[in-house]
Amino acid sequence: MIRCITAASELCSGCGQGWSQLARRWKSKRADHWAKLRKKQTGTALALKHFDHFYPEKYGPRWRSIRLALLCQSKPTALVNHYSNVAETTAKLTSCGSFDLTAEWREQISRRQGRLSSLASSADPASLPADADSSDGTADETSAADPAEARARAEAAGQLRLVQPTQEESAALHDYVPATQLHGDEDWLEEGDYFQYGQEDGSLKVALDRDSPISIPDTLRVFSFPAGEISRFPFPSTSSTGVRDYYPLDGASLLPVLALDVQPGDEVLDLCAAPGGKSLAILQTLYPALLVCNDTQGGRVKRLQQVLLDYLPAAEHWPGQVSVTKQDGQRLEARDRYDKVLVDAPCFSDRHSLLEDDNNIFAISRSRERIQIPLLQTNLLRRALEAVRPGGTVVYSTCTLSPIQNDGVVHMALKQIWEDTDIQVVVKDMEDSMKPFYGTMWFARGVGIKYGQQVLPSVVNNFGPMYFAKIVRLK
Ligand code: SAM
Repeated sequence: MIRCITAASELCSGCGQGWSQLARRWKSKRADHWAKLRKKQTGTALALKHFDHFYPEKYGPRWRSIRLALLCQSKPTALVNHYSNVAETTAKLTSCGSFDLTAEWREQISRRQGRLSSLASSADPASLPADADSSDGTADETSAADPAEARARAEAAGQLRLVQPTQEESAALHDYVPATQLHGDEDWLEEGDYFQYGQEDGSLKVALDRDSPISIPDTLRVFSFPAGEISRFPFPSTSSTGVRDYYPLDGASLLPVLALDVQPGDEVLDLCAAPGGKSLAILQTLYPALLVCNDTQGGRVKRLQQVLLDYLPAAEHWPGQVSVTKQDGQRLEARDRYDKVLVDAPCFSDRHSLLEDDNNIFAISRSRERIQIPLLQTNLLRRALEAVRPGGTVVYSTCTLSPIQNDGVVHMALKQIWEDTDIQVVVKDMEDSMKPFYGTMWFARGVGIKYGQQVLPSVVNNFGPMYFAKIVRLK
């Protein structure tokens, strides 16, 4: 080889090639080498490496099924636009083989209610099964005039469960993501430099109180394909009323909206609203007197505005009822302002991170941003808890399986609220209220999720992932 490196014009006596030819070959080999290396370091590859490292420990043998589903396309559902010609829209959706999923959920809810009330009327309340008393609503202390007094009464009656995290439970939250490290590009980055989740002192007591049954407003309708079917909907089109006929949505995205339990006349804030799927679902209930859709990113705010234009009747019908704001939710100054606040937080977006290199949070260039996500989420949730009125509800949701961004963030925000403010909250235990959805969604159970509910992707019905926790402010 040494013989090859002579003057540029000379021929190598060994292989007979000119120097410039050799240099070209060497350059292209090197380019291949770097292309291969870069390929290994794509956001999608790094995301898979990260999830494979952390999730098996949390989700155990389920991880193999979840992984398979996450690597496939998600299952679409179609949110019927109430402002379209609903009869035409539902006929179009039915003709392509889908069915009204919300009707099935309503039926499951009412069957369950029926079973529980017949149990309640035939049995001594003391002998009812653990979940039977959730249906009569008597445990809902938040409906009382003085929430603090009601809470004290409920506590005395044993209806509130005070959860004092033991060292074991606290540790369980952090085991899968070591408190001082986060899996970075090719290295382990020090997470502890940015925030401290591992330092729990066990002083936080969180009240968990059984949630009342979910109700689904009649105007909210979602269509889906049967279990196991992977058909796609045609593109939404413009209905005879001049607005789009349906909005494609992950079926699990509806659950945080239902958990929010918007009531007629409510003033609602969707703190991280773009591109607007959940805002649109909230509006389909026809209940809010006001919906503020907020997001911080300019491009996404534009998409959100476009969605509202495409799906809602002319803007003059909505003065003061729907508004779009572009604010950093961490700096929100709106104490005791809203009846309901949804925090659908930015997160690892597991599905997107595994399938799309564009705008991927696992891209090496976004390592620092990625590490700070739980801090951002905690700040957003804390602001939401301040912005909601006493008696009002905050729902925190993400589309990641990362427990630190789910229960971990709820825990951190509650701790801050407990330590720094006089706000009192109770976490709603939704285990019973989610049972009617068990037939269509795969819920994580027995994996130590304490505050919220987690929908796991499954190849049968490939919805989620979706974590959501419901917090009611008492004072
Ligand atoms: N809720 C939306 C929907 O259903 O279509 C999806 C929301 S997405 C999971 C999270 C959103 O949070 C992104 O649009 C992002 O721009 C926004 N976001 C990020 N940081 C924020 C902040 N500091 N304040 C408000 N929104 C923020």
